[in-house]
Amino acid sequence: MAEEATHALAELLAKERRARLAAERLLDQKQRELFTANKKLAAHARVLSDEIIVKRAEAKSLVHEAEGLKGENTQVREDLKRANHQVVQAERRLWEALETIQDGFGVFNAKNQLVIANQAYIQMFDGIEALKPGTKYQDILRLFADEGLIDIGMDDPEDWVARMLKRWEQEAIEPEIIKLWNGSFIKLIDRRARDGDMVSLALNITETIRYEEQLKEERTRADAANRAKSAFLANMSHEIRTPMNGVVGMADLLCDTALSEEQRLYVETIKSSGENLLVIINDVLDYSKIEAQKLNLHPISFDLERSIHEVLLLLKPSAQEKSVDLMVDFDMFLPTQFIADPSRMRQILTNLVGNAVKFTPKGHVLVRVTGIAELAPEGFQDLRITVEDSGIGIPADMVDHIFGEFNQVEGERNRKFEGTGLGLAITKQLVDLMGGEIWVDSIEGEGSSFGIKLSLPVDEAQDCDTLHPITPFRTAMIVDDQQINRLILEKQLSMMGLTVSAWRNATEALATAPGQYDLILTDFKMPEMDGLNLAKALRARGETAPVLLLTSSPSEHSTHAKECGVTSILQKPLLRRELYRRIAELGEAMETPRAAEPSTPKPLGTQRLMRVLAAEDNRTNQLVFRKMVQHLSIDLTFAKNGREAVDLFQQTQPDFIFMDISMPEMDGKEASRAIRALEETAGTTRVPICALTAHAMAGDEDEILAAGIDHYLTKPLRKALICGMISSNAPNTTIPPDTVSAADTA
Ligand code: ADP
Repeated sequence: MAEEATHALAELLAKERRARLAAERLLDQKQRELFTANKKLAAHARVLSDEIIVKRAEAKSLVHEAEGLKGENTQVREDLKRANHQVVQAERRLWEALETIQDGFGVFNAKNQLVIANQAYIQMFDGIEALKPGTKYQDILRLFADEGLIDIGMDDPEDWVARMLKRWEQEAIEPEIIKLWNGSFIKLIDRRARDGDMVSLALNITETIRYEEQLKEERTRADAANRAKSAFLANMSHEIRTPMNGVVGMADLLCDTALSEEQRLYVETIKSSGENLLVIINDVLDYSKIEAQKLNLHPISFDLERSIHEVLLLLKPSAQEKSVDLMVDFDMFLPTQFIADPSRMRQILTNLVGNAVKFTPKGHVLVRVTGIAELAPEGFQDLRITVEDSGIGIPADMVDHIFGEFNQVEGERNRKFEGTGLGLAITKQLVDLMGGEIWVDSIEGEGSSFGIKLSLPVDEAQDCDTLHPITPFRTAMIVDDQQINRLILEKQLSMMGLTVSAWRNATEALATAPGQYDLILTDFKMPEMDGLNLAKALRARGETAPVLLLTSSPSEHSTHAKECGVTSILQKPLLRRELYRRIAELGEAMETPRAAEPSTPKPLGTQRLMRVLAAEDNRTNQLVFRKMVQHLSIDLTFAKNGREAVDLFQQTQPDFIFMDISMPEMDGKEASRAIRALEETAGTTRVPICALTAHAMAGDEDEILAAGIDHYLTKPLRKALICGMISSNAPNTTIPPDTVSAADTA
């Protein structure tokens, strides 16, 4: 029983032990589970705590941001307030300014209703009530027209309103001047803004209009006075010119008579003073014409090279007095026949060459004409004409000054030169009028070079025969101490196909082997041995080639030249055409068989004299004219007036007519028209007519040329030009006028 009890106790103990073990194991498991759960919980708690930290930081920054925004908002509100204040202030200032200005200012909206207008605007239109915001523009206009606030003249009010409304529809609205009932003038300036608003300005221009009217009146008065001045000048010029023509012409003739030294001095003084006076009158006249814009150009065909030579011929005496050489270098490849106003061209050249001669005590004056390589329009030639001298020059600071009117280089040195100081001013104006340019390069003490650039139409018709000279000569010798002359001649002769050798003096020329040259050209005036003695020496060594003597005074050497073996004398400066003509003639004479000679040229006896008719009413002028041409072999008839000229034209059939313009009974223009009409009816050839005019006043040239006159010369008459005119117009069926006449040899 004890055992049983022991057993039961052991059993109980074992059960208890197992139960305790099981409980221990469960405890252990639960403890582990708890631990794991605890760990998870801890991790979760950590995450939560981290999140809390982040959220807290976020919340903090949001609070911060919110505070910032609050500050900003206050700033913006303040800025806005300030801006508002500024806008109001600017508007107030603008408006005050608009109210202060005298001019009217109004703004209309896109529907053309008045938005605002300043007081000036409203007052301008008599302060009418309708001028208030909201009123339509067209109603305002209609009111203006109906109430007579605006002087619309003879216009229908509706038409006027319609026109003014149409005006507002334009893209660029032209200003409109309206006259108010009280005589004020308002200029309306309107502009459509981008948003459709119309800004309208109303300027009171009454004073300006009054001033303009006053100016207009004064201008009319001034024009009338100017016309009176021009008319007075025209009359005076004619009145002074006619007797001066007598004085200068007679003095010129008197110079050719036997005079004592003293008498010669007196006569020459009379002549040069008279000529100076005429130059001054011309300058003053021209200047006043240019000033009144009355100077018109009359372009016709003319020979530029010949014009240059004519100018030089006139200036030759003054150049010769000082031993200043006058030379021309006209580019060989240029045409010579151009279309321009020949008398104005001559005037430009005379001024420039005249100055060059005047301001050159010794040395030379060279007129050079070259083409410009620039592309001229079809039918035009760009020309550069330079007048170079070896004279006193112009100080650099005076170069621009001298082209102004009455401007001369000041100082003692200039006092000894006469002049009005108008020449270059006129020359510049003329060159401008021709569309050209003028300039000067100068070195004081060394010389000046005046240049002009012109683009002139070429007269192709006249120029087609330009200088393609043919000659049987092959070689030529030139003797001249002037290098420029040698160069020019060399160029000209090479153009004819000649091989040229040039020598500086007689010694060099005589050192060449004889018989080498087919043609010899020598200058007359050379140091050591002159041209005549050289000719003699060349003949003495058996030279048979023609010898041409170049001299500025052919008549002085004509008798002596033959004896020295000179074949022909050429006038210096040398006209290219003339040189070629003479050489061509010599060539023809050489080629013509001797047997044929008696028939060519025709014996003088079988040819008639050239008939020249001169219409001139003034007896003194007739006498001067007769004396000037007395050495020419011509048949000269005078007519006392235009009517007599027309009668004599029919009776004598002249080859050339000189026509004075102002004559009693019938003037020169009328007579010329009558002669042209007679020629037309009869179908005869046109006789060249040369007008003799006083220095032409505005419009004269037009009328002269319209009357069928071909040339004109201005008075006082110049022997060289009159004779040149006769010679160059002599028909080849008559005895050449410069043939020595029986009367002369007798
Ligand atoms: P004028 O010759 O009547 O005095 P211009 O207008 O023709 O008037 O010339 C103005 C001035 O320009 C002259 O007075 C002279 O001082 C200067 N001048 C003109 N041409 C020359 C020249 N070739 N050489 C030196 N000076 C000159």
